[in-house]
Amino acid sequence: MAARARLKGNQRPAAPLHWAQAGGWIEAVVGSMFSGKTQELIRRLRLCTIARQKVQVFNHALDVRYAKDHIVSHDSAKIPSQAVAKAKDILELVAPETQVVGIDEVQFFDEAVVEVCEALADEGRRVIVAGLDQDYRGVPFPVTSRIMGVAEFVTKNLAVCSVCGGPANRSQRLSSTKKLIEVGAADKYEARCRACFRR
Ligand code: ADP
Ligand code: MG
Ligand code: ZN
Repeated sequence: MAARARLKGNQRPAAPLHWAQAGGWIEAVVGSMFSGKTQELIRRLRLCTIARQKVQVFNHALDVRYAKDHIVSHDSAKIPSQAVAKAKDILELVAPETQVVGIDEVQFFDEAVVEVCEALADEGRRVIVAGLDQDYRGVPFPVTSRIMGVAEFVTKNLAVCSVCGGPANRSQRLSSTKKLIEVGAADKYEARCRACFRR
């Protein structure tokens, strides 16, 4: 991690030659269910591993769909991860030499996750988060919205609408529960476009 030297008075920093020398930053990968967020997160983290960077990956303890010690995409790509119950736990678990921090299903976390991402990026780390941008009603998740607001890079993915085959940005809940968080995959949700989504 190349944290840049603290500057005195009206000294100005030399422009970095490359993003990697600029200190830390946040990348947000957002979209509906099945839009490839976890796949994209895993792809970016794998490239970091190939580049021999020290990577740590976190998911929420609530996300028990596949495994507690891996994040797994709907097409079965997986990467080891640590499950945590509170956002602040991430700060305690990140090793000093870790350069890249990945977080999946960021919408499951408490609001402090925004400050956690900012603190990690401020320390010079690359932070890559993936999460749902809207809940089952089509209402933005506050945590994801806030991270999109402070991130340097935002990637918004679309899925395929399971009704018409068009580009889908909503997650249609198939059961009638009114709980905001109802963990599930194809058994409980499908991707829908604006026209096919039913409130
Ligand atoms: P997310 O994390 O956004 O829920 P994943 O990265 O886990 O999504 O999975 C994306 C993969 O899900 C796609 O590459 C595809 O293989 C599969 N998939 C299943 N249903 C759909 C759908 N309706 N639209 C797009 N991809 C789908
Ligand atoms: Mg996912
Ligand atoms: Zn549709």
